[in-house]
Amino acid sequence: MKISFANVSSVKGFLDEEEATRLYRIAIEASKLAPCLEIGSYCGKSAIFLGTACKENNAVLFSIDHHTGSEEQQPGQEYFDPDLLDQETGKIDTLRLFRKTIADFDLGDSVIPIIGRSEIIGRAWNTPLSLIFIDGSHAYESVLNDYQIWTKHILSGGYLVFHDIFPDPSDGGQAPYLVYQKAVASELYDVQPLFKSLGVLKRKEKMK
Ligand code: MG
Repeated sequence: MKISFANVSSVKGFLDEEEATRLYRIAIEASKLAPCLEIGSYCGKSAIFLGTACKENNAVLFSIDHHTGSEEQQPGQEYFDPDLLDQETGKIDTLRLFRKTIADFDLGDSVIPIIGRSEIIGRAWNTPLSLIFIDGSHAYESVLNDYQIWTKHILSGGYLVFHDIFPDPSDGGQAPYLVYQKAVASELYDVQPLFKSLGVLKRKEKMK
């Protein structure tokens, strides 16, 4: 992997190095099959790793975000970052930094931003995908929508990956974990052991 963590460390985000490396490895395998897609771009940290893997296979990563910040990133909330406030509108805008990240890591032809709400975009989507990384809004309804609307597009042998899976409530919010458990219970996936807070599921081959 030709990504320097020294360069990545200045990019805002909530992904640690080991999780990032794991995402890269999954995407290197997956993107040989079809495009990859992530829900929740923020400032592009995960897109560096997923997108670089796609680039190596001449594939693309679609990266969905409305870029107005999640609930907990709004002014006065726990994850508010004043650097992301658009002075003119008084609203959060992560698109400017996302585009900077994509340019800085030379991923302009490999990472395709899609700006909007994932459930709206999902209703119009019709392209098979080799990997879906769910890391958007962590409100239960939002994670559930992302799971229900998007996962039908995952090819056999493709991956469904959740971020922020915390079986112990004292480690973090439970919404992604609750939805992850639904995916596990569907028996449509081979379930890999949790890797830090990454939940990794591989879509089974269709029965012949
Ligand atoms: Mg996350």
